[in-house]
Amino acid sequence: MARCLYMAGASNRDVIHVAYGYGLFTGGLGLHGGAEEIGAMTVPASGGNTARQIQLLMDFGATILCCTPSYALYLADAMKEAGYTKDQFKLRAGIFGAEPWTLEMKQEIESRLGLKAYDVYRLSEIMGPGVSMSCHEDCGLHINADHFIPEIIDPDTGEVLPDGEKGELVFSCVTKQALPLLRYRTRDLSILHWEPCKCGRTLPRMEKVTGRSDDMLIIRGVNVFPSQIESVLLSIGQLEPHYMLYVDRKGALDILTVEVEMSQELFSDEVKNIESLEKKLHAKIESTLGISADVRLVAPKTLPRSEGKAKRVIDRRNLFNK
Ligand SMILES: [Zn+2]
Repeated sequence: MARCLYMAGASNRDVIHVAYGYGLFTGGLGLHGGAEEIGAMTVPASGGNTARQIQLLMDFGATILCCTPSYALYLADAMKEAGYTKDQFKLRAGIFGAEPWTLEMKQEIESRLGLKAYDVYRLSEIMGPGVSMSCHEDCGLHINADHFIPEIIDPDTGEVLPDGEKGELVFSCVTKQALPLLRYRTRDLSILHWEPCKCGRTLPRMEKVTGRSDDMLIIRGVNVFPSQIESVLLSIGQLEPHYMLYVDRKGALDILTVEVEMSQELFSDEVKNIESLEKKLHAKIESTLGISADVRLVAPKTLPRSEGKAKRVIDRRNLFNK
């Protein structure tokens, strides 16, 4: 993990605030171990108790924040609500991971917290955080391939796919003791690149994981990843990065409902403008995904917030089948 922290420009002069859960989750202790190894002051904040997190970030002058992307957004909202501006904090980098997130979400976090966001990829089964990490060039995540050999396979047939093709990531551990995993299927979907990066590193890169082969929804026969909808929602402006997807079945038809929070400005706007944005979103989702969705713009701060991993999809179809 120390190698990954160096990738985010960390040194022993940094103050690293770890807001991943400690206990039996690999996130907290994984980052903590790396931060201590490089000799940085480490704040073991763990998850939850957001008011105290903000106080700790302020009091210790944290320069690097480590947590899930959805919690980073939650923190940003809470800081704003408590009357702080991002300039009052010393944060300059964030190491975010443990759940799929899009590039649009990354930009959103960077602008709200005033830091550069790095993507860390982890698997508890392999070693926790630090299997791969993005560099300052943002050209994918460098895999520590001296420890983990990556492959991309077709999730349906198990065949290895040629470089540059999207499929399921598979890792084999070459240095791990006690629990060596061989050709371990991650269910995470990505693309591998073997050519050297602009940053000079020669470690292979994997593209940001934005979906898992088992979180793909099949709606009216069309494959839909929640991340595709997230990209559409965040590309349109005037919306908050808080959304929920509901899938229901009425008769033989699948119904996708997208609820997304409006920005405060849009919320106070005229009804016809809100309706016109709903129509625009409906059309954009249909042209991107090939299926129509019922889009509802909801008032700010009405959707559930996550202090750990975000739960954004509720598939209610099974209940209807019973
Ligand atoms: Zn690089």
